[in-house]
Amino acid sequence: MNHKTPEILRTRNELHVWRNQQHGSVGFVPTMGALHDGHISLVHEAKATCDVVLASIFVNPTQFNDKKDLEKYPRTEAQDIALLSNSACDAIFIPSVEEVYQNNVASLDFNFGSLTRLWEGKFRPGHFNGVITVVSKLFELTQPTVAFFGKKDYQQLLVISHWTKINQLPIAIVGCETIRNHEGLAMSSRNSRLSEVEKTAALAISKSLYFLRERKGIDSLQETLAFIKNQFIEPAGVRLEYLCCADSESLEPFKEWPSGSCVLLVAGWVGGVRLIDELEVN
Ligand code: AMP
Repeated sequence: MNHKTPEILRTRNELHVWRNQQHGSVGFVPTMGALHDGHISLVHEAKATCDVVLASIFVNPTQFNDKKDLEKYPRTEAQDIALLSNSACDAIFIPSVEEVYQNNVASLDFNFGSLTRLWEGKFRPGHFNGVITVVSKLFELTQPTVAFFGKKDYQQLLVISHWTKINQLPIAIVGCETIRNHEGLAMSSRNSRLSEVEKTAALAISKSLYFLRERKGIDSLQETLAFIKNQFIEPAGVRLEYLCCADSESLEPFKEWPSGSCVLLVAGWVGGVRLIDELEVN
């Protein structure tokens, strides 16, 4: 399908001028680029509910606890613009680090208890400080009506929803389903750094989540977690950071299967690439 070419906005001023021309609802899709179908699904969801869609491409330095990960983060701007042009996006904000942070590339400190302490918060110290800092700056600049985030980064979605709520921001936060390839691997910009052999090994991550979900209420949770680690994760050569069944809102881990809903979360390294995934269970 042919769409109108999106406006490319690189400065605060260009964004400000564009934003003042919008009179309906603005759906915002923040990304770090290296776009794939997961990102595009957010754009489609935004288009379905908002008058216009604004995406951003900004590799946020303050959310990388690992400098090498920041240096190696894939950057594919021309391809990203082409993808967004084909997906009904109305404008793309592509600022420089200076444009977002001006002269102070630093994060503020946020502490939301278990939400920021557990899982990604534990294994990536400072990560959520960087995420909330950049989201607060992007929200201030873009003034969205609705902002769309992927459940793939389940904890990030909860942290941002919580922060938006406690600050009483007039912005609705919408969580969108995780998009996977035909083999089940959750799409991620970091997948482009995996070799073919590593991509096959990475399938152990989503397989573990599906297997765990199938065993809910049948086998012991702790025994199933240990079984998965020994039978799927380690044989595939994935270096596991965590695999858990947690409360869908507080993210506190369950020791035994809950009778109601929960979320399964996983993070692990495949070669030099860190991957995460999630699965909601009713
Ligand atoms: P990123 O560019 O990785 O920061 O991601 C930008 C947004 O896209 C975040 O809200 C992510 O949660 C979301 N996202 C990334 N991968 C996927 C996926 N496979 N399915 C759905 N949303 C995704």
